[in-house]
Amino acid sequence: MFEQLVNKFSGIFKKLRSKGKLSEQDVDAILKELRMVLLESDVHYRVVKDLVARVKERAVGKEVLESVTPGEMVIKILWDEIRKILGGEVSSLEIGGTMPVLIMLVGLQGSGKTTTLGKLAVRLKNQGLFPLAISTDTRRPAAKEQLSVLCRNSQIDFYDDPKALTPLEMIQSAIRHSREKSYDLILIDTAGRLHVEEELLAELKEVVDKISLKEILLVLDATTGQEAVKVAQSFKQWVNPTGLILAKVDTDARGGAVLSIVAQTGWPVKFAGVGEKVDQLEVFHPDRMASRIMGMGDTLTLIEKIERSIDEEEKKKIEKKLGKKEIDLNDFMEELKRVKDLGSFDEIMGMLPGNLRSGISQIDGEKNLKRVQAIIQSMTPDERANPSIINSSRRRRVAQGSGTTIQDVNRLLKQFENFHKLWKQMNRTGKSPFLKRKGRFGWNT
Ligand code: GDP
Repeated sequence: MFEQLVNKFSGIFKKLRSKGKLSEQDVDAILKELRMVLLESDVHYRVVKDLVARVKERAVGKEVLESVTPGEMVIKILWDEIRKILGGEVSSLEIGGTMPVLIMLVGLQGSGKTTTLGKLAVRLKNQGLFPLAISTDTRRPAAKEQLSVLCRNSQIDFYDDPKALTPLEMIQSAIRHSREKSYDLILIDTAGRLHVEEELLAELKEVVDKISLKEILLVLDATTGQEAVKVAQSFKQWVNPTGLILAKVDTDARGGAVLSIVAQTGWPVKFAGVGEKVDQLEVFHPDRMASRIMGMGDTLTLIEKIERSIDEEEKKKIEKKLGKKEIDLNDFMEELKRVKDLGSFDEIMGMLPGNLRSGISQIDGEKNLKRVQAIIQSMTPDERANPSIINSSRRRRVAQGSGTTIQDVNRLLKQFENFHKLWKQMNRTGKSPFLKRKGRFGWNT
């Protein structure tokens, strides 16, 4: 994800760090380089201009002069400005109100709409809600079929009314069905063609005019850059989306598209699709996304930054652990518990090199932590100390004992395996993943 931008930023950051003091000329030279990097990475020139101007204003002002390490301060300012462009704060999904709450996904065909709808349904179901999925693509049976298969595979209820001839009729029929069955939400997939077609947009407009939708989310293919911005503008004329979902962020190698899209539409991004699998939909955290874009994914950068905030007592514990040749599931559990703000665990994962990161599905939320805890507690002390002995019959027993599934157990063991790899890597460099953060990246932001 974002390889190009990340690589280029890392060159700039190296230069920034190597300077004790930054003159105004230094800052100018760095900003010139920054401008080039952003433009080459598909960020729209107007977005680049504004961003660079804001960083300059702050960088040559008081903030830098007063800071101990000016280079770092510039990086921090840049991170802060990118975070702001990306929306600043998390924008949550609106799911309150009278049941069924209606959430409609719109976008071009191929943008990732149907896949995203499946992911969203699974996410909401995991939150304890009861969602129903429908497709209003009355002209394309294949579209309905795709959604129905996706739902079947993910144990999501799918509803179709062959008698409904228009999207409006389809939604009205689904609302009646939903009231009978007490669904909390209806997730509505809509028709999307390769290009924006007026007829389809007019159908959407009819729905928007007559039905009260809680969210209209425009799904954009993050890899299409400026094209996505144009798509957003077309949709805006007909339906006014309440937010965006950026799909395929994982395949955006250049990295600038996300910045450009968010800056130019100005709409809040609710989620980011980071893979084809049903669990690969993340809440869009502007701060974490800014870190990824800037390549805070560099493990050593992370360590350098957050190491400053380790308190002495913790340091002793870490040193003791580092003395151990191996870590086991007990250590893993302890660490999970310690990272109370589970977001920071995600963030740490997001900062790992891609090869380590892949395969780690995110542990987010209190519920998942409890599940992990239950699984580890259902293991024997031998199994916890030496997870490699957990064969399939043991996995079955652990799943039964913890009230989870074998897939949950497998997922946890995979997560531990990846964590173990990270541990070894860090052990080699004499650094530890068990770190306490003070603010993000060690700055009090
Ligand atoms: P729709 O026509 O808008 O409904 O798009 P689909 O949901 O059929 O998705 C089009 C293609 O994009 C499919 O091959 C999906 O697997 C893929 N896709 C969707 N979301 C993501 C994502 O977040 N990451 C990746 N890598 N692929 C995605």
